[in-house]
Amino acid sequence: MNQDVEKLWELQTVLTALGEREKQLNSKPESFAAVDREWQAVNTEIEKLQQQIEVLGKERRRVDGELSDEQELLKKYQGQLMQVKNQQQYAAAWKEIDATRKHVKELEDSELKTMTEIEALQKQLDDRGNGSASLKEKWDIEHDKWQSSLGSLRSEVEKLKKRAATLEEGLPERVGREFQRILKQRQAVAVVKVTNDSCSACRTRVRPALYQQLKRGELVYCEGCHRILYLESPQS
Ligand SMILES: [Zn+2]
Repeated sequence: MNQDVEKLWELQTVLTALGEREKQLNSKPESFAAVDREWQAVNTEIEKLQQQIEVLGKERRRVDGELSDEQELLKKYQGQLMQVKNQQQYAAAWKEIDATRKHVKELEDSELKTMTEIEALQKQLDDRGNGSASLKEKWDIEHDKWQSSLGSLRSEVEKLKKRAATLEEGLPERVGREFQRILKQRQAVAVVKVTNDSCSACRTRVRPALYQQLKRGELVYCEGCHRILYLESPQS
């Protein structure tokens, strides 16, 4: 029985280490995360500028279409002006021409304004693009550093997984199942050390009777958190 508790304790230690390594594998180191944040921010800004340019480009094309329609109309009215037969028709044609000219002018102004806006945004976009080249270089370097550091972490994870599997195989089936059940229910900690006669997880005091059982190497559960208790042998 004593052997089981020792194995359970080692299994717990291995699983705790495994959990930490896996967490490390899934989290970006701060050196990379800082560059990454900067890089994402620049990309978001570039995307935003591209979208604005696209919207303005559409608007420009729409105004341009309307402008050529109006210019056609103006030509038509000017042609009509040549064929008027009296003063009244003449005045009416002039009125149309005048209104259309005004409209053409408005559209031209609007198109010019849109083009100026697009130009300014395009300049911002070019500046951003040029400025981001060195940032991308920094990003690549930090990303490579991070990825290569993961290699040793991954092999450690593999080793720990193998060790955990070996330990689990060495346990009686019932004890293994019990361990897994507590592990699931208690935040991945099924076995806890006894320190100062108390459970190191929940601080519940171990009663003398249970303490004697522990000393004999029996499987003892904490009366507070129901985890398996582990008493370090005095020589170790
Ligand atoms: Zn406890």
